[in-house]
Amino acid sequence: MTVRNALSRQAGALLIAATLALSGVAEAAGKPLVVYSARKYQLVEQLFQEYGRERGIEVKSVTDDGAPLIQRLIAEGTASPADVFITVDAGDLWRATQAGLLQPVRSPMLEAAIPAHLRDPDGHWFGLAVRARTIAYSTARVKPAELSTYAALGDPRWKGRLCLRSGKAVYNQSMVAMFINDIGEQATERMVGSWIANLAAEPFSNDTLMLKAIAAGQCDVGITNSYYLGKLQHEQPDLPVQLFWADQAGKGTHVNISGGGVAKHAGNREEAVRFLEWLASPATQQRFAAVNFEYPANADVDPLPEVKTWGPFKPNEVNVGLIGKAQPAAVMLIDRAGWR
Ligand code: FE
Repeated sequence: MTVRNALSRQAGALLIAATLALSGVAEAAGKPLVVYSARKYQLVEQLFQEYGRERGIEVKSVTDDGAPLIQRLIAEGTASPADVFITVDAGDLWRATQAGLLQPVRSPMLEAAIPAHLRDPDGHWFGLAVRARTIAYSTARVKPAELSTYAALGDPRWKGRLCLRSGKAVYNQSMVAMFINDIGEQATERMVGSWIANLAAEPFSNDTLMLKAIAAGQCDVGITNSYYLGKLQHEQPDLPVQLFWADQAGKGTHVNISGGGVAKHAGNREEAVRFLEWLASPATQQRFAAVNFEYPANADVDPLPEVKTWGPFKPNEVNVGLIGKAQPAAVMLIDRAGWR
């Protein structure tokens, strides 16, 4: 082969490579984005993949519960491939921040889109979907006028009529943590004790079973994440169970978030920030929340019509990160109160 032939062959190969790069072969365009996610819905995974296609990059996701993902990030340390960490509990985001697993992000877009109580003041995490944990009641046996606060569920009138999910569920631990912040440990413990005294049945392993127990007449009131009722009502529009917004005359209804932050050792930081901004943008927000009958964290975006039927409510606007801080005390309180 002559030198000239070899050169032209090399030029040809380069030309082919350049053409491939320009023809939108997604995988070749940029570094992959690695997302550790506790938001385990197929439609969320589809959203991640949609982002990857839009950006011409590969999005790799690792899904598990929040706690094991935190353990994994700790174990991996500086070698962690994670760029973004997404959880379904504010406490998990707080713990990840405390453990140094997230890095602060300054983003005018995220700061404008996400209300202050739903994000870390230092930018370690941002709420992306909101769920309320409030009172559910039997429309057959309870009038909304009989309901008011979480604490009132401990009144004698609800003796043998209250159902709860297990106290081991992180959602209940987060709710109790919020009460510890708001009314102190002693008052919270009295309240939780009064609930336990009113139980109609052993605590349930999940909110859906508890809601079905209300529908079936095993109990009349309970506490649930809004979206579990949303899903049941979607399947069965005449379900005789409805939501009541607790503590509207006081601090407001307890809310928690599904949210995310940029991993401390992200290899693809810029893309990670861009991804969070995309998730917080109006077009994505609607779908990210709708997947699970939640409220978009972005206040400019409407929830599903079915979610809207529950009416507006005042959320407790204490920063959801404070939930994490009080969670260890909440776990001990729940144990002392005998909430199994
Ligand atoms: Fe859930």
